[in-house]
Amino acid sequence: MATIFSRIIAGEIPCYKVAENEQYFAFLDINPLAVGHTLVVPKCETDYLFDLDDNTLSGMTLFAKQIAGKLKEMTGCKKVAMVVLGLEVPHAHIHLIPMNSENDVDFRKEKLKLTPEEFSKIAEQLNR
Ligand code: AMP
Repeated sequence: MATIFSRIIAGEIPCYKVAENEQYFAFLDINPLAVGHTLVVPKCETDYLFDLDDNTLSGMTLFAKQIAGKLKEMTGCKKVAMVVLGLEVPHAHIHLIPMNSENDVDFRKEKLKLTPEEFSKIAEQLNR
């Protein structure tokens, strides 16, 4: 059965898309730790990030780098954290999280509650 992320990529489940190319897809995390929290995923379905072949993994990092630049510009954050967990969804993904302090990347803290309009506006800004 397709992963939820494959279904998002296929357009079967809605998302707030941030970027896409032939191999990768990026969209806003629905439970963000910070404004702009983005997930970067390969279109191929592999659970564990380090099971990706070298080309796919390195290309994914470069794709994430472009988005990180936009996130930094948009939010004015100190740095953009690149975090890999993958405990919930078995489809390799990188979390990109704008951060100003360690607390901004604490996955135990309460997530932001954004309205659909706020999510759309953030995605729109990142799509520019
Ligand atoms: P993890 O697999 O532990 O890295 O966590 C999966 C992440 O995917 C969590 O931060 C979820 O909030 C996020 N997530 C799960 N389903 C969706 C969805 N439909 N749209 C956007 N983000 C999602």
